[in-house]
Amino acid sequence: MPPLPIPDPALPAFSLTFEESRGTILFMKTFPLAFETLAEACSLVLKHLYPAASPLPSITAVSLHVRPFEGVAHTAAHIVRRAEDPMEGNHITAEIHFSSEYIASLPKRLGSDDVRLEIMGVLVHEMVHVWQCYMEDQQSDDDEPAEASEASTKTPRPPHWIVEGVADYVRFRAGYPAKHWHRGAGGRLEDGYERTGFFLDWVEEKWAGFVFALNAAPHADTVKRITGQEVETLWRSYQMELGETTLVPAGVLPMPTHAPTHP
Ligand SMILES: [Zn+2]
Repeated sequence: MPPLPIPDPALPAFSLTFEESRGTILFMKTFPLAFETLAEACSLVLKHLYPAASPLPSITAVSLHVRPFEGVAHTAAHIVRRAEDPMEGNHITAEIHFSSEYIASLPKRLGSDDVRLEIMGVLVHEMVHVWQCYMEDQQSDDDEPAEASEASTKTPRPPHWIVEGVADYVRFRAGYPAKHWHRGAGGRLEDGYERTGFFLDWVEEKWAGFVFALNAAPHADTVKRITGQEVETLWRSYQMELGETTLVPAGVLPMPTHAPTHP
């Protein structure tokens, strides 16, 4: 009998709550080994967000809830204080809520081949929120950032462009970009999501370890400390570089791109 795999001590305990629906069935058909899928999403996030041997936040449990609601997904993290034994330290538990209605809509939107990539991409994005070290007692609403509720916020919330930019940076580096993503000039740093994620990828290419530092100290001063430049200056350089690389020679038609339709 082959030996049982040894659980990775860095990984939290996973639990699943699936409410019966078309989307839930599609999720289970696509990922019949749901615990392994969560573990894979978790490992990818740790690989791309934390350098080897760096200390990790104490995340002890992650639950995935696939249930019907409007939108795509959101994640909440809760700090569990161990007042009875201060030496033991605090730890964090997190919940990822993934809309079964959104999952059910994917085959029509994307074609069945891309359903797996999209589900995994969303899981990786949400798992980043679990491991963002400032997530303690904060809530992240991905799908409707303009209406994000700030439930039980005890510390100032990091800027939206860092929270959502880092999440899509990791999703991109993990190999699960969304089908509609397009790395082109335009937009604003504050847009967050893949627009900022691609920018962070560009900075990370030049200053290895930059995203780790930004996650540890999530504010614009970190950009200056690591790169020696203001974030707005870097954004302009990035845009200029993109503008140059996306120039199309006369007579050559550009390839069609997917419209930015972030759900
Ligand atoms: Zn998000």
